[in-house]
Amino acid sequence: ANQYYSRSEFGAAFRTYTNALEVSPSRIDLLSNRAAASIQLGFWDRALQDTELVLQTNPTHKKCLYRKIKALWGLNRYKDAFNFLKENESHVEGIDLDQATKLVQQSLGHYDIAEMYTLDREKRHDIAEYFGPVEIKRISGKGRGLVVKEKINMGQLIMCSKAFEIAFDQDTIHFRGQNEIPDTTEWDNSNTCEGRVFEKLKMDASLRPQIQKLYSGDDTDSQSKPWKTDDDLTKGLHSVMKFNSFRCEENLSASTAGGKNLCALWILPSYFNHSCIDSNAYYQLFGDMMFVRAVKKIREGEEVTITYWPVNHPARREVIAARNFMCECRLCQLERKDEEEGSPVPAKISNLLKLIRQNFNSGNPNLDISLECVRKIAALRPELQRDLNVALLSPEVDALLKLTRICEKSIFILEAMHSVCANNALVFSSPFQSQNLARCYTGEKDAANVRKWWRVFKRDVLAAHGDFTQGVKINELGLHADEIEFYEKLEADPNAKLASIS
Ligand SMILES: [Zn+2]
Repeated sequence: ANQYYSRSEFGAAFRTYTNALEVSPSRIDLLSNRAAASIQLGFWDRALQDTELVLQTNPTHKKCLYRKIKALWGLNRYKDAFNFLKENESHVEGIDLDQATKLVQQSLGHYDIAEMYTLDREKRHDIAEYFGPVEIKRISGKGRGLVVKEKINMGQLIMCSKAFEIAFDQDTIHFRGQNEIPDTTEWDNSNTCEGRVFEKLKMDASLRPQIQKLYSGDDTDSQSKPWKTDDDLTKGLHSVMKFNSFRCEENLSASTAGGKNLCALWILPSYFNHSCIDSNAYYQLFGDMMFVRAVKKIREGEEVTITYWPVNHPARREVIAARNFMCECRLCQLERKDEEEGSPVPAKISNLLKLIRQNFNSGNPNLDISLECVRKIAALRPELQRDLNVALLSPEVDALLKLTRICEKSIFILEAMHSVCANNALVFSSPFQSQNLARCYTGEKDAANVRKWWRVFKRDVLAAHGDFTQGVKINELGLHADEIEFYEKLEADPNAKLASIS
């Protein structure tokens, strides 16, 4: 069994310890080791029971003291974990009171977001879960969804949820080896994730109901019969995973900064419904933790929606169709209307993007021609549809932005991009635009616009990170302390001239 454990085959280790415990039910080493395997598998109740059995006879058993705290964390009993650690502090190794205090704070919704950016993106972390004022409700025409019980402000954290199961690239390599899956079999992180959930549910039937309740293709499933046989479990779980697992790919990380190639199942976040452009919340992944934050004010009784696939996902409409639902966001409605009416706009846009590409590929790109193409794209959607002009987020426009090195020529591009990004799940990229707009207008000596975009930047950071002062600590924003001081001075004094400050 110890060999299984050291090879990270926790399911096999768990079963072997369990068999041995049937012969000698009170062997301390077996109980302690099974607790370790249970922690790896997320069998928190089992881990707690085993450690408590050991601690009854051996109250200073170091490993079980440590494992009991881990189990209490897994059960979201952060205060109990803190109190237990305090009572036994002199015997516990590997966890200190500061860490236990931090988890208590996190469970109340207080996270150091800047710290989250320093975490390994492909690991599971000891971070507490937090669930804000949301509840599962029936939503007319959509099945179930999450609705807020009291008003939520822009930038406010709605929840921080730990994955029930997650598979990163290295887990898939390990899973393939462990299960001797031949090279000829197609196998990716979603297969690994499903395989692991299957193993967990097979070993611990008490974990099944919460998974079985999730949407699996029709909305009457929650009344269907419990999964008894392996066959029930295989089929039922496959549908649940199809509709609820989150798959993130690194190259599409616009709305999932912090996440990498992964497939995971989060339980409560599975109840969020999707909206491409009219979502009012935004999710971000740090390892196995999903943070969901409001990007605009959400009224009491209003549904919270997130964006599963960013609007610039190349196969957005196909993946939505594959999940059997009709998105009613303004962008999807516009695209359907364009199709029904045979609007020439989509073809015009793709021709203009093609011109930009050809210009790049010519080896001697003429930036002015490309800029003119972007201007035409921006003009193709009238004022009311400005925020639906997702073509402005195409790789071609992005490449052009880089080529212009973000100068006064880029101002109109940044402004147009900002109107697409600022009020939905793309809010994470809007600080990039507003910050660069403040810089561009500084170069143009246009103090009024510098003030305006500095204020917008602070609002964008608040929406994306919940706290402006935390946001500026985040390296990705690349702001220097003296730059912040400069903008703050300019904003504070409406009569200040740019030259007199810099
Ligand atoms: Zn949509």
